Amino acid sequence: MATAKQILLGLDRVELAELFADRKDAKLRAKQIAHHIYARAERDFDKMLDLPGEFREHLKANFLVSPLEVATHKTSTDEVEKLLVHRGDNQVYECVLLPYKDRVSCCLSSQVGCPMGCTFCATGLGGFDRNLTAGEIIGQYLLLQSLTERRLSHVVFMGMGEPLLNLKNVLKTLKLMHEEVGLSYRHITISTVGLVPQIKELAKENLPIHLALSLHSPLDKVRDRLMPVNHKWPVKEVVGTMKDYQNTTGRKVTFEYLLIKEVNDTPEQAKALIPLLKGMPNVINLIPFNWVDTGQGFSRPERERVRAFRRILEEAGLNVTERVERGHDIAAACGQLAGQHKGKFARRGISEPLPVRS
Ligand code: SAH
Ligand code: SF4
Repeated sequence: MATAKQILLGLDRVELAELFADRKDAKLRAKQIAHHIYARAERDFDKMLDLPGEFREHLKANFLVSPLEVATHKTSTDEVEKLLVHRGDNQVYECVLLPYKDRVSCCLSSQVGCPMGCTFCATGLGGFDRNLTAGEIIGQYLLLQSLTERRLSHVVFMGMGEPLLNLKNVLKTLKLMHEEVGLSYRHITISTVGLVPQIKELAKENLPIHLALSLHSPLDKVRDRLMPVNHKWPVKEVVGTMKDYQNTTGRKVTFEYLLIKEVNDTPEQAKALIPLLKGMPNVINLIPFNWVDTGQGFSRPERERVRAFRRILEEAGLNVTERVERGHDIAAACGQLAGQHKGKFARRGISEPLPVRS
């Protein structure tokens, strides 16, 4: 049996140079290869024309740029493209290309599935398989980049998985995006369920990335029900950590607020957000619930309920935005397309039980 080829995706130019250490020109070749892989989204060694022919043959025989395969490619009526990818093991994860007038953004996954068990989330309901490697994360970006002529300038980690549970690989990805692809850290957003120790760790990195917290309720009794993580790090503690993050890094954080009818969209909860976020010039991004069969009867609030919730926050001087719905016809919301493929692809493990707040 032929030995498996070594994967280059995920390696930086120093690591690439180590692979070719027996060559005098290792550094130069590593720089060229890194440019082809990351800045040009090139997977084919034959198209890396500035490399010597014999070296290209050596690369073809021993290495593979990317192991990623596309299981499904869907395009919505509003030009959103969604890929379901895997590395040949049928553990699929999703990424989405989001073209806007002024920029092209993308939404990437950090894990196959997610162990956090949020009760409204298709990914969470599907369980957890594994962390993605840096190569598999940046590989999503590169696949999406190769779908468009426009430059993919913005990245959000809002696909499958909890990025801060896979912090090491996510940090490596950020470094590659910044140093090799040339993306601005300021155009990269990490969304987290609210893992306090990891938020503190990320603050120490002091990268000018954008951090968003999935808050979803100012009340522990409601957030407990929606997000088991709240048992461990309740509302005040996690919001306090976000404030510290903001003070340390000087980067404004934002809050994501999913609206589920009569669960967390009540005037009482809108009012409770006001003192909680006092003194933070932050944005709250409202996200009306995308229907997922949660078994809990969750539903999406009507426009009027969303408007009423928004009005209370705005009257108190908070900055509110609403997520513009894109790619609805191809189920481009968190976890949905992979959810549809469950029977075919998913091999999910049982999620670890979360520690309960003492
Ligand atoms: N694990 C991270 C990032 C991935 S989820 C996090 O939870 O923040 C990205 C966003 O999608 C989160 O704000 C999450 O709460 C939201 N989301 C999950 N399920 C959703 C649904 N059914 N409808 C709308 N938003 C959803
Ligand atoms: Fe995981 Fe985020 Fe879904 Fe919660 S909302 S289960 S943290 S992906």
